[in-house]
Amino acid sequence: MSIISEDKIQSVRADFPILSRTIYGKPLVYFDNAATTQKPRSVIDAISNYYLNDNANVHRGVHYLSQQATGAFEDVRKKLATFVNAGSSNEIIFARGATEAINLVAYSFCETYLNSGDEIIISALEHHSNIVPWQKACERKGALLKVIPLTPEGDLDLEVFEQLLNNRTKIVTVGHISNTLGTINPVAEIAAMAHNKNVPVFVDGAQGLSHGPVDVQKLDCDFYAFSAHKMYGPMGIGGLYGKTKWLTNMQPYQLGGEMIDTVTFEKTTYNEIPYKFEAGTPNVADVMGFGAAIDYINGLGWDFITAQENDLLEYATNRLQAIEGVKIIGTSKHKASIVSFLIEGIHFFDVGTIIDHMGIAVRTGSHCTQPLMDILGINGTLRASMAFYNTREEVDKLVDAIYKVKTLFA
Ligand code: PMP
Repeated sequence: MSIISEDKIQSVRADFPILSRTIYGKPLVYFDNAATTQKPRSVIDAISNYYLNDNANVHRGVHYLSQQATGAFEDVRKKLATFVNAGSSNEIIFARGATEAINLVAYSFCETYLNSGDEIIISALEHHSNIVPWQKACERKGALLKVIPLTPEGDLDLEVFEQLLNNRTKIVTVGHISNTLGTINPVAEIAAMAHNKNVPVFVDGAQGLSHGPVDVQKLDCDFYAFSAHKMYGPMGIGGLYGKTKWLTNMQPYQLGGEMIDTVTFEKTTYNEIPYKFEAGTPNVADVMGFGAAIDYINGLGWDFITAQENDLLEYATNRLQAIEGVKIIGTSKHKASIVSFLIEGIHFFDVGTIIDHMGIAVRTGSHCTQPLMDILGINGTLRASMAFYNTREEVDKLVDAIYKVKTLFA
């Protein structure tokens, strides 16, 4: 028995209109939350309300609507600062998502601080978004990319990490939670180890902010990137937390309106943070949706979210590994509600396609982590990534579906 009542789960599910739809005539079982989470009605309403009633450009009008939009936009920045416990809301920069936030730092930090012969440390678990921008920065500057390897369970090998850190290391960048294996990396420990050598730490929090509370000051990370669409908010918005001392000194990323202080044809001076990193008209409507998503998470509370997701993780792990021929990929003791697995003798793509026709949405493939697949010696997995609105009954449907697939291939 789950410790969360059935009534509570059903009332939460009712907040998400899409969860009541059917796929091929079957009730949708949505287990692709690591790719994107579904949106509660309050988020959808916040976006449409903005366009219906409040639309105006921000930071540039004396008129009522523009000032109102600016106030609401800056209120979400403050809400986010409180959500991650940033020292100041100036340390929160809006971006298109985690990918853009990573690109911002990989460009702007490296333009300012990375030189030929320097090193950047990443981990074997990283999403392509947290590999390629750093690889490019190394290419641009003549620096070297070093990789923290994995233990057989899918944890980062911190002994090797310690050895990789040296006086050429300019930044360490790791994911908070692996989107493929579900491993929760010990970010605070990694930051403490790196700071011992005066090296800043960037955290790709794309999967981090939806599964549990994040306190950037407690983690003591220097940067933390996130995407609203993985936190029950809209696509096309997310952002970056960065410590003032870095953001102030970093080169701007994109150039244009908003990010300037004074412009002449000879010379431009830049605005203060965070605006220095927010060139052009921002995605105001989706910032409103993002604000509503944070309100929604705060309203539910982390106790409920973590209790339900931990229950689903344990239940799904136990039920899946009891199926003959099923192998779970990624068995760290510290995991979020993401379960990657393979079925002996049956291609993951075939399984994904067949169970899709039973209404079950899982992800198949390399999950944008090809280097990790190479290390594991596989070319993909099936991935069930669960959110608080999922149920044990849905896990049972997935398990039943796998038994049916096995019969088909027997
Ligand atoms: N990092 C991780 C660990 C992710 O899971 C993702 C999204 N799959 C990203 C980065 C990129 O996030 P986005 O596509 O929202 O920019």
